[in-house]
Amino acid sequence: MYHPPVLKNRRTLLERSEKFISDTYFTDCNLRGRLYGDTHQLTSLSVSQTAKRISYSEAVQQNFQPCKVGDAFGSTWWTCWFKVVLKIPEAWRGKEVHLRWESDGEGMLWRDEQPVQGLTKEGEKTSYILSECLKQNEPHSITLYVELACNGLFGAGQGSFIAAPDPNRKYTLQKAELVVFNRDVQELLTDFEMLVDIVKMLGEEDQRGYQALFTANEMVNLCDPTDPDSFSSARSLAQKFFSQRNGQSQHIVHAMGHCHIDSAWLWPYEETIRKCARSWVTVVRLMEKNPEFIFTCSQAQQFQWVKNWYPGLFSRIQYFVQKGQFIPVGGTWVEMDGNLPSGESMVRQFLEGQNFFKAEFGQYCKEFWLPDTFGYSAQLPQIMQGAGIDRFLTQKLSWNLVNTFPHNTFFWEGIDGSQVLTHFPPGNSYEMKGKIEDLIKTVKHNKDKGRANHSAVLFGFGDGGGGPTQLMLDRLQRVQDSDGLPRVNMSTPDRLFSELQAESGLLCTWSGELFLELHNGTYTTQAKIKLGNRRCEALLHDVEVGSCLALSQNVGFSYPTKQLQELWRLLLLNQFHDVIPGSCIEMVVEDALEYYKEIQKTGSRLLLSACHALRSTPWMEVGSGTAVLNTLSWDRTEVIALSEEGAQSRLALVKVPCVGVASLTDLAGSVSKVTVTVQADGTVRMENGLLQAVLDRMGHLVSLLLVQTNREAISDGCFGNQFVLFDDVPLYWDAWDVMDYHLQTRKPVVDVIKPVQVLSSGGLRGSVTFSLRISAKSSITQEVILDANCPYIKFSTQVDWAEAHKFLKVEFPVQVRSSNATYEIQFGHLQRPTHRNTSWDWVRFEVWGHKWADVSEHGFGVALLNDCKYGYSVHQNIMTLSLLRAPKAPDANADMGHHEFTYAVMPHAGSFQEASVIQHAYNLNFPLRLIPDMNNIRPWSMFTVSSAAVILETIKQAEGKNNSLVVRLFESHGSSVLAVLSTPFPVKEAWHCDLLEQPNYSRPAEVNDSKVSLTFRPFQIISLLLRIF
Ligand SMILES: [Zn+2]
Repeated sequence: MYHPPVLKNRRTLLERSEKFISDTYFTDCNLRGRLYGDTHQLTSLSVSQTAKRISYSEAVQQNFQPCKVGDAFGSTWWTCWFKVVLKIPEAWRGKEVHLRWESDGEGMLWRDEQPVQGLTKEGEKTSYILSECLKQNEPHSITLYVELACNGLFGAGQGSFIAAPDPNRKYTLQKAELVVFNRDVQELLTDFEMLVDIVKMLGEEDQRGYQALFTANEMVNLCDPTDPDSFSSARSLAQKFFSQRNGQSQHIVHAMGHCHIDSAWLWPYEETIRKCARSWVTVVRLMEKNPEFIFTCSQAQQFQWVKNWYPGLFSRIQYFVQKGQFIPVGGTWVEMDGNLPSGESMVRQFLEGQNFFKAEFGQYCKEFWLPDTFGYSAQLPQIMQGAGIDRFLTQKLSWNLVNTFPHNTFFWEGIDGSQVLTHFPPGNSYEMKGKIEDLIKTVKHNKDKGRANHSAVLFGFGDGGGGPTQLMLDRLQRVQDSDGLPRVNMSTPDRLFSELQAESGLLCTWSGELFLELHNGTYTTQAKIKLGNRRCEALLHDVEVGSCLALSQNVGFSYPTKQLQELWRLLLLNQFHDVIPGSCIEMVVEDALEYYKEIQKTGSRLLLSACHALRSTPWMEVGSGTAVLNTLSWDRTEVIALSEEGAQSRLALVKVPCVGVASLTDLAGSVSKVTVTVQADGTVRMENGLLQAVLDRMGHLVSLLLVQTNREAISDGCFGNQFVLFDDVPLYWDAWDVMDYHLQTRKPVVDVIKPVQVLSSGGLRGSVTFSLRISAKSSITQEVILDANCPYIKFSTQVDWAEAHKFLKVEFPVQVRSSNATYEIQFGHLQRPTHRNTSWDWVRFEVWGHKWADVSEHGFGVALLNDCKYGYSVHQNIMTLSLLRAPKAPDANADMGHHEFTYAVMPHAGSFQEASVIQHAYNLNFPLRLIPDMNNIRPWSMFTVSSAAVILETIKQAEGKNNSLVVRLFESHGSSVLAVLSTPFPVKEAWHCDLLEQPNYSRPAEVNDSKVSLTFRPFQIISLLLRIF
């Protein structure tokens, strides 16, 4: 029965209830103060500290020293193994008994040689249930181990969480004891918390909020914290409130446990392995107690780690996957960056990921899952679909700085027209806590009200791991169907997307990229990681092509399947969304560069052995000559250096057929030579019959003439190759962000150390060099290179870089007027405006692209090519390539040191498609490779493609099929074309297949002898499974 009403004072009633459950105020007399009962000391506590991450079996062999609560341990990145010996008092029979453990750092509890639960205060996991109701026959004397990682959920940033880690931090043990846990108090506290939050979140205009207010107030009246017998009447009042049901039209929340674990970020890869174990073992434990609990989990790499290091836990996970509670999602090897990986890398993310999920769990993922990356390529919808996925869950676009993305549930259409059903949880978080606030936000912020009546709520601590807690489950359980709130179903991604699909008639479509209006510095930060990625992508491509050439010719050749898979997996790992963007700490950078080194070393060896295997074929033999390998699908005639000794190296002009090999024959006599002339005014003119360039003493490109049309590419009175330096101080996210206002701080680099001088005066190659001072500590040395027969001029650049919060770019003001510039993306290209009409346009002041960008008017254009850069901008007629940044967090030494990179400028007649800009950008990135000790009898091609629009991107051995190849082609011009793929081999079988290499047996390829006819839509990717030997 309710107490009679008092004053109409919402505030006092609300705060009264809040104080009743406060952990700060009135704990001497409130309900919170009764959560724990008697305590009991541990029998003994001792510790062993180590700088390494060691296994349990190794750890328990160590020497343990006595320690006590209040002691400090560490420093950062160390591990403390605590040995906990305890004895539960007999008198606690019938009680719920916990080990209460509160410490800094991330803990993992081990019992009977197995990990059993995470114990991380930051993740609200501070107690381990020893017994739910102590019985006589239960063990009372127990020995446990706590493995404490000396780092927080978010690493150990000094001062700010994204600052470089503090290596000297200490980690304190604050509590380690046995305690009686009053479950009935906990249940009542959760009731109160939910009611109080309903009052607050529904506000003063909602009558349901007032009903919650009076319910909570009356519960305080009924509840005497000292008398557990009084709890039940209070609980029934709460239950009565919660069980008042919703109408049928209410929004439906699909609650799913989740734990976003960055594969490396403010901590190294090695720690992530333990983060996965700590988080997932806790999830498994929750599943044992809560059979309705569902958890979604992405990233095959993390599963692989747990499989290797925690096989017992992995088999429990497999069990819960089969039960449908632990749900693998995403389909990729890691949650990769959505912008920078190449098209083929993205394919491999899915290939390695989906194959892993299939092999370990018997199922492919149905959803792509990428909540936390810094933009999403417009080619992703097609790649997803090729990997058997037509649903996508993401979140990050809610971080847009300027424009609010207009949809939460919509169809996303890629550059080829592929569509995927896409959902952004409207609550704008992938780490909710199951609170009322999360539910209200989800309904309120849904931008597709009336169109989509279902939304995801992902709950669980994330980024640094942690995951869901029992409390989160208890909260959600109370409001499954409670009037005034959305209905809450513990659900799966499959159920959510099926519901959305079933009612998708009113959904809108977003076409093109999902550009994140933030974190645009990540296209440039950590230049060596970007370089490593680009080089290794090219090398693995070449190893696969070379190995397929060898396979086709030499029955004894063994395709390096396993080594290639290992190298690909390393490359894919480094594409994680805090590694390739450069938003990670220095330890991660060191690991990443080490992995690239490993790929380079092993990859080069594999390529060489593939090439050597070609020497016993009808067209190759061992000999004193040299052959040249072209792994690209067009014939190339290029100047090649025969040794690596800089300007003095011997050069040759060679012609090599597509996907093939030719002997090194110097064709120097057949083309016009390069001339380099120092002119009377001190400028230098370089010509090769295609281009005529003039450089001033500072290395400025004052003129660049396309000889064929006598067309000047550089804007009148302007300088191309103008280095510019900007102040680069973002608002917060240092390594991540470059803000719009940096553009106002532009300063040309004008201090000459060494003026232009001729390095190579002509012949097959002309080159000049010069040096500029950026500051007292930083300088640029550049070699400007013009080769015979080459339609672009190359800028081979070395920078010694020791700046703080500066951004180095290079500008080319070009004589072209166009409202759009074109940028290469994965398997295609897209356009972005060169003007700043709307907020959607001007916020793209720094954008990403891959190997080239182009700005063209009808009949003429200029392309900017590069061999390892990703950041661009084209504003009006000024094309800018972003070169180096100098952020100080989270890596205080980011990008400091020596850098080498090359970019090139290519003026062209006609469109960039007609001028083969795409092919030339490939040429710059995939150098012709010399094969020593080999005599070539005749030039030979394994494949030719009839259409210039179609690029044969990939040739590899089919997964699990030794006698078959997969070839992947894509339409690169944005046109509908017919193309014929030819090979000297008789094609025995040819099937269209998807990106997972599953043949479509209803769709044999159209084969005529050794020619396969293909029809392409704009930007279409076609994969074929071929048996040719
Ligand atoms: Zn993340």
